[in-house]
Amino acid sequence: MFDGIVPDALASLFPRQRRDALIELRRDLHQHPELAFAEERTATALERALSVVNPVSIKRVAGTGIVARIRGRDPGAPVVAVRGDIDALPIQESTGLRYASVHAGVMHACGHDVHATWAVGAAHLLAERPATGDVLVVLQPAEETGAGAAAIIATGALDEVSAIFGAHVDRRFLVGEVVAQAGPIAASADTFEIELVGRGAHGARPHESADPVVGAAALISALQTIVARRVDPATPAVLTVATVHAGTASNVIPDRAMVGGTLRAVDSETRALLAAELRRVADGIAAAHGLTATVSIGLGPPPIVNPERQAAWAREAADLLLGPGAVKPLGITYMVAEDFAFYMERIPGCFMRIGAREPDGRVIAAHSPQFHAAEASLFVGAAVLAEAARVASAALAQGT
Ligand SMILES: [Zn+2]
Ligand SMILES: [Zn+2]
Repeated sequence: MFDGIVPDALASLFPRQRRDALIELRRDLHQHPELAFAEERTATALERALSVVNPVSIKRVAGTGIVARIRGRDPGAPVVAVRGDIDALPIQESTGLRYASVHAGVMHACGHDVHATWAVGAAHLLAERPATGDVLVVLQPAEETGAGAAAIIATGALDEVSAIFGAHVDRRFLVGEVVAQAGPIAASADTFEIELVGRGAHGARPHESADPVVGAAALISALQTIVARRVDPATPAVLTVATVHAGTASNVIPDRAMVGGTLRAVDSETRALLAAELRRVADGIAAAHGLTATVSIGLGPPPIVNPERQAAWAREAADLLLGPGAVKPLGITYMVAEDFAFYMERIPGCFMRIGAREPDGRVIAAHSPQFHAAEASLFVGAAVLAEAARVASAALAQGT
């Protein structure tokens, strides 16, 4: 379980001192997790770790974000970026790790301790063997709230970036396996809230009411038909009702009920269809029950759809480092979202999945209190991100 072993293919990139520094950094971050936009200690530790590689500059952006510029060989060449996210989740850890969280109720349950360490590791590798152009190493706060990437973009810190790479640990894949394919790799995540307003009454006199509780029950069932009957069955989509609120007493029919949840899709047409059908069904069911429906939809991250050219650069990097066979197909689309999508709306790039399961380990979903990434995945992610930046930088400089 505690295997800070560098995969053979990467051994020359991580001599003992570098290896130990990265393991120590990751364990320190894991032990001291901080929530979105409160990553002060984390950011200070990362600034310190980055300063060792003597970057051109280290800038604090968006509060607890950091952008470090690593010098390329040609100052005029296009700039590329690698991104690691740094925030933790409000979860009580139960991994049993020696370096488990010391902050009650806060945990790196999504592997962002590893992602942050990857970015620092990539900075080391790029300082040692520079890309053609400069590389920006981006440490992003607040991925879990979906707000961090947008905050970084708003600072203008990435305005000159021509390609961006990021990745997520994934225990469905073994350490040394990398997913870097073109096409959808993460879903959109929009939220919805439907307020049904009717007319309250005594619980013993339902005929005098327009009952939003019965309306909400009918609505929850009817919403299930959207994915089942409106979305092409060959297209992934999710509509989950996750919150229902109504009423305060057992003998009072309330005035209103709230129904809320999440919408997921991997293409913009299906994303739009889910929202439009949600409104149509809500209005129709409300009318049938003498209620009015007010639907609000909060747009979250769009889907991540890796373009072919940038995905090919990432695959080339993984092949170069790990040999043929390391690159694996994603398989069934995993309908979670990533706010890396906001970068990809503006900057072409590739989002990867990096295998994080030990050879004898079990699959554990992110956001579980037991989630942890195999330590050896530290080296794979750092090396692949650095190499992807080099491949992209060279290709962009040559105009290929
Ligand atoms: Zn997460
Ligand atoms: Zn995550």
